Amino acid sequence: MEKVLSVSLGEIALKGLNRKYFEDQLIKNMRRVIKDIGFEKIYKEQGKIYIEAEEHNFPKMINRLKKVFGLVYISPCIRIEKDEEQIKEASIAAIREKIDKEKINTFKVDTNRADKNFPIKSPELSRQIGGLILQNFKELEVDVHNPDTFLYIDIKQNAYIYTEKVKGYGGLPLGTNGKGLLLLSGGIDSPVAGFLMAKRGLEISAVHYHSYPFTSERAEEKVKDLARILSRYVGRIKMYSVNLLDIQKEINNKCKENEMTILSRRFMMKIAGRIAEKEGINALITGESLGQVASQTVEGISVTNRAVDIPVLRPLIGLDKVDIIDIARDIETFETSILPFEDCCTVFLPKHPVTKPKIEDILKSEEALDVESLINNAIENMELIIIE
Ligand code: ATP
Ligand code: MG
Repeated sequence: MEKVLSVSLGEIALKGLNRKYFEDQLIKNMRRVIKDIGFEKIYKEQGKIYIEAEEHNFPKMINRLKKVFGLVYISPCIRIEKDEEQIKEASIAAIREKIDKEKINTFKVDTNRADKNFPIKSPELSRQIGGLILQNFKELEVDVHNPDTFLYIDIKQNAYIYTEKVKGYGGLPLGTNGKGLLLLSGGIDSPVAGFLMAKRGLEISAVHYHSYPFTSERAEEKVKDLARILSRYVGRIKMYSVNLLDIQKEINNKCKENEMTILSRRFMMKIAGRIAEKEGINALITGESLGQVASQTVEGISVTNRAVDIPVLRPLIGLDKVDIIDIARDIETFETSILPFEDCCTVFLPKHPVTKPKIEDILKSEEALDVESLINNAIENMELIIIE
């Protein structure tokens, strides 16, 4: 009886001809997060991925693997040959181990026979093993609807017995869906937006705008901290740090006060668009949510959107703030996001921002500015920070 970790794939399992590509990328991402812990082997067997490693390392590995996108469940399993006696022995061992760890009164056996050559059909094997457990553990009962624990039996090339399913985030393996440039502020929303897009396989770079010295170095540190938390899920992040102060001053001098937010927002998009083009990035990502603030009305978003040609992904567009906060807590960015440091948008915050800007008016206002050279200047002076 040997212990291994099994990994179940969610959506990847539905991929047709591309499946191998997704699986291989997932295995590569899994290797990357566990290589310093050390493992013997990673192999595929009929729809699941298995890791051979030392059992005392399992908890640490599970903790890291949970954050690898594309993976739905992780289970420590007993691996044995497809032999009835061995299956019985391992089932008893698995239940005993479970009982040692927690109080259970009821169980259900759930067999999955991927190898149809195995002579005993799933329901029959479940019944046999269920009976055996009842004999050996007098305190236990069967509950088919709401058991305290399942005993899972997978019959593949080998047989695998387990009781735990540790949930992963699902999604698609990082790097299987192109690249996105996240507009990362110090707020609650944008880190969540980056997380959700990365979960769909998008590789993430970031751009942050600040108004130093009007915004502090501590505010800048906070954004780096957020990027660092995000990198637990998305790996290494290239983050561009851009000073927007000259642009804001110019807008402040030459344009209407109530257009400050929408105009600086368009500059943010344009600069991000340039960076994306230079870096071969396919899309921008923002944390906008419809109606959340004055600049996120459908009119505001429309005017912002017209600053760039490339797609702008807004995964939070239909989410309520409470739902966004739930995700922020879950991915552990929330506590950092709510630290009270100033943001560049608060520096010249208009008292009454336009909520229904018209593109003609905004384009007209921009005529007062030397948009091109302002953008070039900002880009020339930007800083590249690598977040590991
Ligand atoms: P967040 O919580 O992400 O700061 P928010 O609700 O404060 O969002 P806005 O300030 O209107 O919303 O910003 C909308 C989106 O624009 C942000 O989610 C982010 O993607 C981008 N953005 C705003 N400020 C910055 C900034 N200083 N640097 C980079 N991107 C920014
Ligand atoms: Mg913000």
